[in-house]
This record gives sequence, structure tokens and C-alpha cells, in this order.
Amino acid sequence: MPPAVILLSGGLDSTTTLAIALAEGFSPHALSFRYGQRHQAELASAKRIAEVMGVADHLIADIDLRRIGGSALTSDIPVPKARSLDEMGKGIPITYVPARNTLFLSFALAWAEVLGASDIYLGVNALDYSGYPDCRPEYIAAYERLANLATAAGVEGRQHLQIHTPLIALTKGQIIERGLALGVDYGLTSSCYDPGDEGRPCGQCDACLLRAKGFAEVGIPDPMRVRYGLV
Ligand code: ZN
Repeated sequence: MPPAVILLSGGLDSTTTLAIALAEGFSPHALSFRYGQRHQAELASAKRIAEVMGVADHLIADIDLRRIGGSALTSDIPVPKARSLDEMGKGIPITYVPARNTLFLSFALAWAEVLGASDIYLGVNALDYSGYPDCRPEYIAAYERLANLATAAGVEGRQHLQIHTPLIALTKGQIIERGLALGVDYGLTSSCYDPGDEGRPCGQCDACLLRAKGFAEVGIPDPMRVRYGLV
């Protein structure tokens, strides 16, 4: 099976993306980041998911974005709570991490070159998302163009990089349905921006609310909330 690099945060979207990469015949090399995020519970989730789903390798890279700050996820700025979907649809929230997907994709690109991989999977979503500029299709298309100019393997014709974003046009409910069909255990995943003890979700941040909307669309309880005794 050809290798592919999968960006794996430990959340619902990236875990579904990993399942899709496996179903599409790739040998997944999962890449996660310890970037100074306050929700480190997601890294524990990413480790469990990588083990359970049988990746070829799981690399956790350290990039300390607290030194830069500028986001509620990497500094002492409160995470917004209880926002309506309307509010989420307007503007770029303070949970945006400056240039995060560009940093992550660049790391993935470097690893892909070493692995001899031409495929990177990224679980971005342009429908049910929080207005992040680096989750848009035009951003992904532009990054792919850059990637194919950026590496020795590209210039020498050994690599033509493709960035797969299989969730980009799906609703949260459609993402969950796709994952369930592929056998994803969503009880292993972690989405909350501001979790409490042992990764317990807050239930009120944008990530928790969008996740709840997805499970409501599918009409089943969220197995992660069941695990914490919240439903
Ligand atoms: Zn939350």
C-alpha cells in the first residue's frame, strides 16, 4: 500500500479522514502536534486512535505556538461559549490559531517527501466550521500548488503531491455517517477546545456545539458523551 501522511488531531474530523485514507488503500502515517494547545486531551485521543486503527507510524511533533500566542487555544484568552450557529458563521473567532494549517501542512509535506509519499490527508471542513481561513477550498488548492514547487522530490519528478480533503463539502452529520459506515469508534475521539478533568468536554464551545449538531443530525447519542456519563 502506498504511504500517505494523515494529519490526526484526535478529533472527529481527522479520525474520519484517517478511516477514509485506510479505505482508499493507503498505508497511513499519522502526524499530530504538541503545539501548546490547552486541550492536550486530544493528543491522548490521537494516540489511542492511531493504535486502534492500525497506522503504520504515528509521529507527534513539538512546535510550541504558545511563544506566538494570539489564540484562545494557545494562550490565556477565554474560549467563547454558547455561541449560536449564526454567530459561528460570522467572522473569525479567537480560537483561530495563526497560520496553523500552513504550519501543519508544511511539516506533513516534509515528512511526505522523506517517506516518498505523494498524498496528504487533511480533515478540514468548509461547511460546519468556525470560519477559519485555512479550512477553505481555495486555501487548500493554493497550498497544493505551493507544495508541488517546494520539494526536491517534486522538482525531480518523484512526487506529485495531492492534498486530500474528503470532508470539505460534508456537514457534520454526513461526516459522522461516513465514519460510522467505516467502523470509526467516535467514543475514542475528542473535540472540545476547553476540556475539564480527564478530557471531559465542556459542551458549550464551538467544537462541542458543532459536534452535538452532527450527532443530532444522525439521530444517535455521541458515544464520547456516553463514555463520560453525559447522556
Ligand atoms: Zn467544549
